[in-house]
Amino acid sequence: MELRVADVKQYLYCPRVIYYTYVLPVERKVTHKMTHGREEHFRIDRLERRRTLARYRLEEGERRFHVPLRSERLGLSGVLDLLIESPAGRFPVEYKVTSGGPALSHKYQLVAYALLVEDCLGGVVRSGFLQLAPRRGLIEVPVTDDARLHTRRLLGAIRRLVREGRLPVVRHRFARCRDCEFLNYCGDVDRPGGGLIPVFGEVSVPAGGVFGGDGRVLSE
Ligand code: SF4
Repeated sequence: MELRVADVKQYLYCPRVIYYTYVLPVERKVTHKMTHGREEHFRIDRLERRRTLARYRLEEGERRFHVPLRSERLGLSGVLDLLIESPAGRFPVEYKVTSGGPALSHKYQLVAYALLVEDCLGGVVRSGFLQLAPRRGLIEVPVTDDARLHTRRLLGAIRRLVREGRLPVVRHRFARCRDCEFLNYCGDVDRPGGGLIPVFGEVSVPAGGVFGGDGRVLSE
């Protein structure tokens, strides 16, 4: 089964999004958050085309925008926001619109792109970047062996969820549901509540979001 890189982010946000996408597809409503996210994406894209590579600490290189990637071996596809090709290596870049810091879902989505870049274009991706808006932060994320393994496990957990076809039980905070396009279908979620998204398959998913320690902030 072919997955999209965005599924990794969605799964970490809430496994039910995967259920409503693949197991029991339902009509989606376009939320304000989605519209705002798309507009911010265009804005970052325009800005990025005018910038030099100095903020990536690269002296030379070429930018490729909106790069389609697909691997049969990984069963994965997606369109990467930006790929920097330089003598120092290839660096995937993802734009993220967030009022907080970088989230685990952002990190593993980026690592999934790194896997795709390696499989489609060859070489080893040592790190990638998250370009955050509206804060304008640029964060370098190392692509470690552990991160690769965890990403592969996430893909396995997503496929298992689809195969088993059961509505996942969730216990995360209602704040996450408030802006969700599927809220109408989730009458059973606690409001308000606390806790963690449960372990699903072999992968434990923290409900928080901000990851620390393994990302390097290059600019604010
Ligand atoms: S409303 Fe909440 S539980 Fe339902 S899919 Fe959205 S985030 Fe998940």
